[in-house]
Parts: sequence; C-alpha cells; structure tokens
Amino acid sequence: MYDKNNVFAKIIRDEIPSRRVYEDEFAVAFYDISPRAKTHILVVPRGEYTDIYDFTANAPSDIQTGFWRAVRNTVDAMNLRENFRIVANTGPGAGQSVFHFHVHIMCDERFKSDF
Ligand code: AMP
Repeated sequence: MYDKNNVFAKIIRDEIPSRRVYEDEFAVAFYDISPRAKTHILVVPRGEYTDIYDFTANAPSDIQTGFWRAVRNTVDAMNLRENFRIVANTGPGAGQSVFHFHVHIMCDERFKSDF
C-alpha cells in the first residue's frame, strides 16, 4: 500500500529539500542524504509505486521508458558513464526503508581518475 507521505513523495512535491542533480517529467534525481559511495544518487519516478516489483507490473510503458531514460540522463549529468552501479532494494527483507520506488546510482571512483 503506497503512503503519499513518504519522504520521497515529499521531496517530489518540494515539501522537504533535496540536492537535485536532474529532473524531468518522469523522474527526480538527488543526492542520498546518507551516502554509501563517493557519489550516491537516488532516482525516483514521479508516480506512486512502492518498489520495482510494483513499478514494472503497474506503470504504463511510456512511464517506465521515461523513468529509465531519466536514469540514463542522470548518469550522463553526473559523468558516470564508465563507472557506476545501480541497486533497487525491494522489500524490508532487502533493506528497503522508503516505500516509493527508487534506484540507487553509486560510484566509488575506484576506476576514475578525473575527480
Ligand atoms: P532504501 O534503503 O533502498 O529504501 O533507500 C532509501 C535511501 O533514502 C537511503 O539510502 C537513505 O539514506 C535515503 N534517504 C532517506 N531520507 C532522505 C532524504 N530526505 N534525502 C535524501 N535521501 C534520503
């Protein structure tokens, strides 16, 4: 059951601040408040989906395509093309703590020499 008052819904509505790095009609991308990599970004769709299992089953295909394009655009905006990981924690057992679908983009810069 989706909770409209989850923290990412509030960020999308600009009710609480975030350090945004990219946004478009499909998604918002911002820095994780508690980074676990040198660069740690979250990308969230604007729609109300609890996790990737919900999103891939229930979001219309144009919404899904737009979301993944926004993920790619975030990677480009952060200049991470050749060095990043994506994680989608799904369910409490996997450590999901915010039940608005999101992907983590993480770069530990191990292979990167220019920052
Ligand atoms: P997950 O455990 O996959 O649900 O990830 C939720 C992530 O949201 C965690 O990495 C948190 O550090 C992050 N987080 C929680 N609140 C905020 C916030 N206000 N701004 C940015 N990131 C947040």
